[in-house]
Amino acid sequence: MSHEAGGGKGAEFLAELSREFPAFRVVYKRDSALCRAIHAALLLVTFGGQRVFVNGYYTVIGDTLYVPDSWDQLDDDERVILLRHERVHLRQRRRYGSVGMALLYLLPFLPLGLAYGRARIEWEAYRETLRATFELKGRAAAFDPELRRRIVRRFTGPDYGWMWPFRRGVERWYDSWLAELDRGPAAPPKDSAARDV
Ligand SMILES: [Zn+2]
Repeated sequence: MSHEAGGGKGAEFLAELSREFPAFRVVYKRDSALCRAIHAALLLVTFGGQRVFVNGYYTVIGDTLYVPDSWDQLDDDERVILLRHERVHLRQRRRYGSVGMALLYLLPFLPLGLAYGRARIEWEAYRETLRATFELKGRAAAFDPELRRRIVRRFTGPDYGWMWPFRRGVERWYDSWLAELDRGPAAPPKDSAARDV
């Protein structure tokens, strides 16, 4: 898949990502047999709750970011926010190794509901989502209650197999991270991000 050559923040960020991860590439999910297989497996283990994998989801596997068709509709800021989330996952894989990442992420898929490793990995990435939203779209966008509802639901709902169903706890992480972002640029470096989960 080729990225638009038109420049812009999204294309610039993709170029930056490719410098850090030379094998990085973007592939449409509909073109990927692997993605269709994962979709079928997720529907099975989440009893049909996970319906949005092919349509709504961005997924990094190895050096490849699989994107839904809606990727084409994202504006520059939205692309950068999304890519910053995925960059966290690429760095996590570098940090933990592919096997470690798979252990943390995939194996705990069963049993559903208490996938602490996955919740930790995703929370670190969602912190970056919020930081990027705050920086690119402003405070009001970062504090948007709809965004909060959507992200909290990622943890507590079927999207990732009810990985961390303790809604109050997730809301507490969320609100304290927003408060920290709100206090200003002295936010801690990304690598310490998962520590207080
Ligand atoms: Zn993620």
